[in-house]
Amino acid sequence: MYDVAIIGAGIVGASVARELSRYDLKVCLIEKENDVSEGATKANSAIVHAGYDPEEGTDMARLNVRGCHLTEVYTKELDVPYKKIGSLVVAFSEEEMEHVEMLFHRGNANGVPDQKILNREELLKMEPNIGDTAVGALYSPSAGIVGPWEFTIALTENAVVNGVELLLDTEVVDIKKEEDVFTIYTANAELDPIQTKYIVNAAGIYSDAIMNMVGEQEFKIRPRRGQYFVLDKSQGELAHHVIFQCPTALGKGILVSPTVHGNLLVGPDAEDNVERDEIGTTKERMDYIRETADKSIKGINYRESIRNFAGLRAQSDRSDFIIEEAKSVKGLINLAGIKSPGLTSAPAIAEDAAEILKNIGLEMNKKENFNPTRRQTHFMSLSPEEKAAKIKEDPKFGRIICRCENITEGEIVEAIHRPVGALTVDGVKRRVRPGMGRCQGGFCGPRVLEIISRELDLPLEDIMQDKNGSYILVGETKNRGEE
Ligand SMILES: Cc1cc2nc3c(=O)[nH]c(=O)nc-3n(C[C@H](O)[C@H](O)[C@H](O)COP(=O)(O)OP(=O)(O)OC[C@H]3O[C@@H](n4cnc5c(N)ncnc54)[C@H](O)[C@@H]3O)c2cc1C
Repeated sequence: MYDVAIIGAGIVGASVARELSRYDLKVCLIEKENDVSEGATKANSAIVHAGYDPEEGTDMARLNVRGCHLTEVYTKELDVPYKKIGSLVVAFSEEEMEHVEMLFHRGNANGVPDQKILNREELLKMEPNIGDTAVGALYSPSAGIVGPWEFTIALTENAVVNGVELLLDTEVVDIKKEEDVFTIYTANAELDPIQTKYIVNAAGIYSDAIMNMVGEQEFKIRPRRGQYFVLDKSQGELAHHVIFQCPTALGKGILVSPTVHGNLLVGPDAEDNVERDEIGTTKERMDYIRETADKSIKGINYRESIRNFAGLRAQSDRSDFIIEEAKSVKGLINLAGIKSPGLTSAPAIAEDAAEILKNIGLEMNKKENFNPTRRQTHFMSLSPEEKAAKIKEDPKFGRIICRCENITEGEIVEAIHRPVGALTVDGVKRRVRPGMGRCQGGFCGPRVLEIISRELDLPLEDIMQDKNGSYILVGETKNRGEE
């Protein structure tokens, strides 16, 4: 019997798992996909928002500001890429300047540190490529950028090292409650039904479905799609901060931002009335994003675009995050409607979840041996002496597999054998980046496939690109079968 079963291994579920792993508890983290971070956490703007955007007095405002601080602390503890580059909300008219002032006051009320309103000259000094019609901006130095899937993988690894059980390929299909015990039924044929005293529902756009399995319909989730361009590192220097336009009723609008790895990200739009599996991009929307972004930053060369993608925000029928014990089911904690700034807020949402569990009766005693740290090898950032020592120890560190990102075979092998190891080509890509570069895996993809097959002792045909069913090799081309 588990004390707590967390459903959903996105940034929210992973943060809760790591938070609960500080205590003497039996906890499992249940995920329907074959890896963590496969939902909204895989496809977003990767911004650590400062916290001027949510309305004063909301959970969103409180958790955003706290989460922004905790993200800085946790990414250091867990060796996750993070850069505190600051954000700019740019005004393109005097009316928009009034909006910027409103955001400045709201940010101050929410506790955002060190904000400043800039005039055009000050803005130009910080961003020489800013659009010609920009008149000023709100500067928030506490904002940053992060690797969202790297963060989720690191949080999960750390939770597992501290005793949490991760159950992948385990889709929750039904939940029953008798007396004080939940029984969770899953689509994983190798697993008996899971018994637990408490459930944390962190299932993203499916969190309403989880709620409805065991209680009344307390909220509805409507996906809101956002699409993006990822541009090659040749464009990465065009902007030095996260550059927003003034927000609208549909959200924070189109941004231009460097990524933690030096690419340029442009997007997202906001589109309602999409299905929960509609994560494709459309020409019409991409054209709109390009035209809108050109107002913010001059000279972006879209011929240098290396990938497009879309993500689904978990928009609920309430305006704030839903962070509460379900009204119709005692012991079920909903962490739902976690739209933006959910990535930023997740570490703080996890603290709230732990507090709720404690308040409703879970006995929580801190572990003495909790290990808050995690490290992985970044071969290219080692000194020449360290590199030589590493290659001597294991010659696989002397063989470059990904030429775009300079990733060694040693790092890939390490990623496969870590506590939450990569099982797929994209799983390796999200952990150590082969395939993230300009050629998008054209050169290194087949090598990564061979390495996974060798290391996991699985036939090549069994290795997937990403989600279950995404087979890469389906048969031998020269095998003509029986003639
Ligand atoms: C376009 C876009 C841009 C955004 N930009 C930002 C940003 O810049 N900054 C920011 O702070 N936030 C941003 N966000 C919000 C942020 O991405 C989300 O708030 C966050 O990723 C939500 O995490 P989650 O763990 O709740 O959900 P998810 O990452 O979706 O995780 C839910 C998990 O539950 C699993 N699951 C679902 N059903 C089941 C089931 N039945 N059984 C088992 N597992 C199940 C899913 O497979 C998934 O892995 C953005 C979101 C989008 C879509």
